[in-house]
Amino acid sequence: MSIASRRRLHPLGTHRVIDPPGAMPQNAWKLDNTPVARDNEILCTVDVLNIDSASFKQIADACDGDEARIAEHVFGIVRERGKQHNPVTGSGGMFIGNVEAIGKDLCEQVDLREGQRIASLVSLTLTPLHIESIARVCVQTGRIWIRGKAILFASGLWALLPTDIDENVALAVLDVAGAPAQVARLCKAGDTVVVIGADGKSGMLACASAKALVGERGRVIGVAPSDRSAAARLLIEHNFVDTFLVADARDTLALSEKLAAIAPELADLTINCVNVPETELASILCTKDGGTVYFFSMSTSFTAAALGAEGVGRDVTMIVGNGYARGHAATALQTLRDHPPIHAYFNDKYAH
Ligand code: NAP
Repeated sequence: MSIASRRRLHPLGTHRVIDPPGAMPQNAWKLDNTPVARDNEILCTVDVLNIDSASFKQIADACDGDEARIAEHVFGIVRERGKQHNPVTGSGGMFIGNVEAIGKDLCEQVDLREGQRIASLVSLTLTPLHIESIARVCVQTGRIWIRGKAILFASGLWALLPTDIDENVALAVLDVAGAPAQVARLCKAGDTVVVIGADGKSGMLACASAKALVGERGRVIGVAPSDRSAAARLLIEHNFVDTFLVADARDTLALSEKLAAIAPELADLTINCVNVPETELASILCTKDGGTVYFFSMSTSFTAAALGAEGVGRDVTMIVGNGYARGHAATALQTLRDHPPIHAYFNDKYAH
């Protein structure tokens, strides 16, 4: 492909790729983040970034939890790559902003007006982002308040922010919208479902969604390193889980033995929602032959999962956590509305 044809405006945004030539925006090292809408692009003014949990944890750990260093670190990634694409975890996040300009080729095609407030539903790893300044970092939630601009391609996805949910809460939910949407597809009545990382954002929504679907004959087992967090207590008190297992999922044998002790038949479905690496084999060993493991976690290694399952001779279907499922934003927001205790918890934690 010639350089000229690569520069031609493309709905998938390949015209923004600087390095390496021929890459797609997501796997490119560097994007052109010039904050001007081309004819097939949408320019947004951005004021909040939600860094995905695996990425934020890695950055926060590398910066000893220091807000100023985290801000400088993120600024540095975006300056170098033209996008918030963590080179260690390979993951990104999403943004909230206002539509500033819609390229002339898209005006008729998109149901969007300048000035509308939206959340992006495509990863920051492929979103050209220009940061002017960083105002605030919230270490507890992984949110960063900035002055900046971002580009959505013609193929990009976004959601208008709901009017009945606080926008910071909506951001937290939309970040993990793929999880409850896939749970709704994968859970059946009577299933035993294990949710690893149950007391995080996606874990809580997954537990609530699974519990509603498995019915009286089914069972939801939440797993997290402690049952003392407010989220874990809420899951237990409001019966969003039937059992809560305190376990470190990196300790493969300890978790799988604890699970086998309370559910010898093992899980029909295991949902991995953790933000740390090396939990693939525990997820596989919690799952019965013929069952399914849904790896929502961005810390998942394909190699560890594939070779791990082979190594222990477990015939399970393993699903990569596609961040997109048709209707996922609406499903995730509705999951929140349907479960007032979880909505109240999200309000306490994220609505500020
Ligand atoms: P979160 O709110 O930070 O929750 C992470 C959960 O993992 C917490 O419950 C945490 O427990 C638990 N955890 C951490 N270490 C653990 C361990 N060793 N054993 C068991 N549990 C452990 O994260 P989130 O926002 O829900 O995101 C979850 C994962 O999905 C992350 O990897 C994130 O990057 C990824 N993600 C994927 C997509 C996608 O499209 N597939 C989109 C967005 C995010 P404690 O709170 O007790 O530490």
